[in-house]
Amino acid sequence: MTLASSDFVPGPLLLLGAPGVGKGTQAQILVAEYGIPQISTGEILRRNIAEGTELGLKAKDLMAAGQFVDDDTVNGMVRSRLAEPDVLRGYILDGYPRTLAQANWLDAHLAAAHATSELPLVAVSIQVDETDLLHRITGRRICPTCKCSYNIYSQPPLVPGICDHDGAALIQRPDDTEEAFEQRMKEYAAKTVHVIDHYRGHGRFEEVDGSQPIEAVTAAIHTALKKLRGQKEE
Ligand code: AMP
Repeated sequence: MTLASSDFVPGPLLLLGAPGVGKGTQAQILVAEYGIPQISTGEILRRNIAEGTELGLKAKDLMAAGQFVDDDTVNGMVRSRLAEPDVLRGYILDGYPRTLAQANWLDAHLAAAHATSELPLVAVSIQVDETDLLHRITGRRICPTCKCSYNIYSQPPLVPGICDHDGAALIQRPDDTEEAFEQRMKEYAAKTVHVIDHYRGHGRFEEVDGSQPIEAVTAAIHTALKKLRGQKEE
């Protein structure tokens, strides 16, 4: 099965799931398959921190502690990003919305005249047992140059600490410690579950099993997306 036929318009897709389920990895694959951009609020915030912007300074300590950045700030970031012209065929939201207030803001924004796509936003949640997630998070290493992700336990680079693709020294995100992970799980359980209920309640929600191999998860997301768009699998 080809993952994405060329005439399939994916529209706006939200990838949901706890920290470490593989949202970023799957988003990168889907970006290449569908030719639509990934919009990761976490990535936009990390770029702002690296560039030392006012937004970055505001977000830095909250992020390192695994706490959420406030809704108005992230909504504003998403508003600006959705004004760019590359979102017309769709986009993948990764890590946003994370609160019910963000989901309500986004629905209202997309329903307004300046909506970017005629297709409604649909959500796919990736499920993984919490016990697996800690290993995934604390073992995660990222290439600062190409942003690809490794895991020292399950998917190590060929040379320890070095990116296979460009030779850059891999880094660990400051919020990938066990302590920050626990805080991030608390935030997820308290706030992001309401986002799942929100999209489930509107019939715009599917769940996939994230404990399978990466390619199988991608195929499951593709099937879920076609179902949500009312299309048959080819
Ligand atoms: P992520 O890369 O998606 O795991 O996000 C890393 C961190 O950025 C989170 O733990 C939050 O501190 C912050 N963040 C990213 N997206 C959001 C959001 N939608 N709402 C609030 N905080 C966010």
